[in-house]
Amino acid sequence: MTVVNPTQAHATLCAVFDRFAGAQGPAYHHVDGDLGFAALHAQAQALAQRLALDGDSPVFIWGHKHSQFLVAYWAALLAGRTVVPVESDASPDRLAQIAAVAGAGRVLIADPLIDALPLGDLPFWRVTLDSKAPGPMPARCVPDTKAAYILFSSGTTGQPKGIAVSYANLADFVGWAQVLLDGMAPALCISGNVRYCFDVSLFEMWFSWLSLRPISALDHRALYNTGALIGRYRDHRLGTWVSTPSLALHWVRDKQFNAQTLPDLHTMLFCGEVLSKSLLNTLWQRFPDLRIINTYGPTECTVAVTAVDITRAHLLDARPLPIGRARQGTQISGATGSGGLDELVITGRSVGLGYLGDAVKQAKSFPMPATYMTGDWGQAFDDMWYFEGRKDREVKLHGHRIDLNTVEAALRAAPGVEDAVVDVHPNNRGLRAFVLGPTTPQALEQTARHLAQTLAAPMVPRFWYGSTLYPLNANSKLDRTAFIAQLQDAKPLIFSPPSPALVSQSVPEAMVVAG
Ligand code: AMP
Repeated sequence: MTVVNPTQAHATLCAVFDRFAGAQGPAYHHVDGDLGFAALHAQAQALAQRLALDGDSPVFIWGHKHSQFLVAYWAALLAGRTVVPVESDASPDRLAQIAAVAGAGRVLIADPLIDALPLGDLPFWRVTLDSKAPGPMPARCVPDTKAAYILFSSGTTGQPKGIAVSYANLADFVGWAQVLLDGMAPALCISGNVRYCFDVSLFEMWFSWLSLRPISALDHRALYNTGALIGRYRDHRLGTWVSTPSLALHWVRDKQFNAQTLPDLHTMLFCGEVLSKSLLNTLWQRFPDLRIINTYGPTECTVAVTAVDITRAHLLDARPLPIGRARQGTQISGATGSGGLDELVITGRSVGLGYLGDAVKQAKSFPMPATYMTGDWGQAFDDMWYFEGRKDREVKLHGHRIDLNTVEAALRAAPGVEDAVVDVHPNNRGLRAFVLGPTTPQALEQTARHLAQTLAAPMVPRFWYGSTLYPLNANSKLDRTAFIAQLQDAKPLIFSPPSPALVSQSVPEAMVVAG
């Protein structure tokens, strides 16, 4: 097991990089061409030398999935700068806000398709892949507490929220990634599913760099051409997959996503959203020997903080799937909140530096050093954690206090439902259920009846909308707002629960509280 010396975070990362120089074979497959490990080493080092002489401010890396992005990423890390990854398709307003909040002093354009820079006077370089052989790197002394990267929340309105994570946090994550890799069968190729503005991509990057195996990059501009993408994964002999559950749901719609087409795929690791039993079932039908790992964590705590190998026993268990046990160096506890639920509190080496320029939020969410209040409800059994939804989802409707998490969790457990979003009708006329899976009035009615058998009547939505289309946000999670927006003008199925006398007696008190 790799144990990171907390005073040598930057050196730990550079040691991973040094192995690239002598490595044979590709580091990266992209539709525009492959990049070898040795070339990544040479190009990144050449750019790092320029960056090392260019000041110390955060480096704004603007691009998508081109191999130039990896060169820029490594160059910034080697030079001990702070990486600020931003997607090619971010709006000019968002770019300007992010650059200002992060205090970026240099832009690296890492996508050949970007031809204009709407960032005022910020100096920029285009990343190229043809640099001359680099000379020796100037010595760097990078404090462990310095920000290694800053990520911005995916919210499209208002001021983007900048979250900083230190070099020590990153090195600790890399140590954990090595532990996870040690427990996996060696992969010939790692997926490149996740955009670099979302930290779940760090699993893919560091699995690749630690094992000297290539990433097969998924360019999101071609996301809906699953046939071609599955073909690429087959040709590259994909062995390890990382994504959100929503992105996997997108792929399983294609029947070719199976063990016959992808015989080398042995592990799928999920993070970022609830992993549903319905998706798990489908995956095991398509890939009977697949190893599935569920992980959980907020960006504030360096990608993820728990992991668990999902077993058949978890599938049969009445509870939802677990999110796992805390990784080494991180502790999770529960702080008692309302309704007897516990808020997950994370402490230890994974806890990042926090928010930029938001002292109020910082004090509230990081009340002590290396302590983060997640705003997630959770419960543990023998140190195994279960996610119980976001804290801020309690509503009051017709005198009843209802936790929308509970309704959504019950819906996800209903037959045929892949995912669901529940909200309150804008005119307070009842709950609305937006369901991914069933679409006909009969199927929606059946789902509603199923729910009425498990939940108390006030928790059963009155308005039902079904769809098989689901929009993804920049982090490849279900875009809940857009999912509702695409359906809310459709004619809903109106459901009236059966008489209250028939509703299950087994509803826990905490679920519905008369106000
Ligand atoms: P982000 O910072 O965008 O990665 O979002 C972090 C949030 O996503 C967490 O606080 C949880 O609410 C949710 N989340 C992450 N992983 C999981 C998971 N495995 N199961 C359920 N929710 C998750």
